[in-house]
Amino acid sequence: MQKMWIDGRRVASASRRSFPVTNPATEQVIDRVPRADRRDVNRAVAAADAAFAAWRFMPGIERAALMREFASRLRARRSALARQMTLEGGKPLIENLGEVEWCAAAFEYYGELARDQGGKVISPVCRRQIDFVRKEPYGVVAAIVPWNYPLLLLSWKAAAALAAGNTLVIKPSEETPLSTLLLAEDFGLFGKGVVNIVTGFGPEVGEPLVAHPRTSLIAFTGSVATGRLIAQTAAPHLKKLNLELGGNDPFIVCDDVDVDVAVRGAVWAAFVNMGQVCTSGERFYVFEGVYEHFVERFVKLTGRLRLGNPMGPDIDCGPLIREAHREQIERTIEEAVSQGARVLCGGGRPPRLRRGYFFEPTVLVDVTQKMSLMRSETFGPVAPIMPVKGIEEAVRLADDSDYGLGATIYTNNLEYALYAMENIHAGTFWINDPLTDNDAAPFGGMRLSGMGRELGIEGLDAFRESKHVHMDYRIEAKPHWYPYNWGTIRKGR
Ligand code: NAD
Repeated sequence: MQKMWIDGRRVASASRRSFPVTNPATEQVIDRVPRADRRDVNRAVAAADAAFAAWRFMPGIERAALMREFASRLRARRSALARQMTLEGGKPLIENLGEVEWCAAAFEYYGELARDQGGKVISPVCRRQIDFVRKEPYGVVAAIVPWNYPLLLLSWKAAAALAAGNTLVIKPSEETPLSTLLLAEDFGLFGKGVVNIVTGFGPEVGEPLVAHPRTSLIAFTGSVATGRLIAQTAAPHLKKLNLELGGNDPFIVCDDVDVDVAVRGAVWAAFVNMGQVCTSGERFYVFEGVYEHFVERFVKLTGRLRLGNPMGPDIDCGPLIREAHREQIERTIEEAVSQGARVLCGGGRPPRLRRGYFFEPTVLVDVTQKMSLMRSETFGPVAPIMPVKGIEEAVRLADDSDYGLGATIYTNNLEYALYAMENIHAGTFWINDPLTDNDAAPFGGMRLSGMGRELGIEGLDAFRESKHVHMDYRIEAKPHWYPYNWGTIRKGR
């Protein structure tokens, strides 16, 4: 039985209740964690609030040193953290080892970036005045995290928030709280109460955290539905929101590329982490001239993906996160098939894997833009492929979406690439290299895919606000300043 982390101590929930965490590859319970409620949220926010006074004024150079130390502890515990993420989340161990490294890199990046305050000096409106802008932290940040990249998405928030001088209450996903709790003592490095972890469910922990009068900013990654609920809860308090939500990313393949190369990128974009990536390739638009060749190669490579226990080294894909998610994906495929789609590969549960929430990577053709498969986020190992006549049709269909998280094009034609880039709503646009991130570049979504950005200077600014400081450095009476009706003040009597 695990404990939470509040005010620098391991604690049980005031509710005395707990809930199980299950390994999605074996369906076995691996541990139990506290089922927190409003009382625990109050304790955690009070601790973060008390710690803010000191943390916000710590010199940037000291904060950066702590963040570098935290990064080196992450690296030192890389195997244990990756193992825990695999056990509770089902992502292959090798990919989770990579995730821990990205977390460390984010802490190093933001520790250094925040030393440059990024404020500015402004030309004054009068002589003998100085105007400057200071960047200040908000206070207590609530970081609400999903399960698909539990430590990475936590790190993008925590590193930027801490570097900017905020303190934190983290709510990990109820599916993957163990890897976050494994970091508790390492978070203690920043000081008592600076980082707190409260485990539990959305309505019992997330909602009170969003509604709490002392949480100033909500940094959330998750579904559009939950993003809406959070926005509603936050609205009466007019809280600042950073929302990283779902996507339904298009993937265009033009006829001027080496199809065998494009297919490898496409299969990777569709099925990495079983398609449970916010920026997965969810809709494939392929030029007619290369469509048949592309589909044939896509099916062949998909059929070769190795499914199995994600702890194993020779595995490409693990299980889905939970049974309800698997059933939802099955319903989406059934609906598309009933409307005329054809399954060329996969489409069911792998017979040899009887335990665990496994599902075969699935390729569909004869799909239409109207199918919910093409309109909503599937968040699973499903790749619908559609032929298009040329770049105009490809771009029109790609942009015909409520979402705007990412988009990919494979082409050697500069005009095609830039035309698509300009006309598709997407927070990230990849040309010939899907799904890559860069700590120094902003990440986030347009349209329903969110508001605000993580990473880059934008991701730091999301956690700080501007204060304009106006100073007159020679105190003197300035009668000409005051309007004529303010006679007494103008004359000084
Ligand atoms: P989710 O929205 O179900 O849950 C995310 C978090 O919100 C969890 O910690 C959950 O407990 C909490 N929560 C639930 N209800 C809440 C409420 N009423 N108030 C406050 N918190 C609440 O999402 P998920 O299933 O964990 O993750 C999958 C989704 O996340 C997908 O839609 C995916 O696209 C999205 N995602 C987006 C990004 C991005 O950067 N844009 C990255 C990864 C995942």
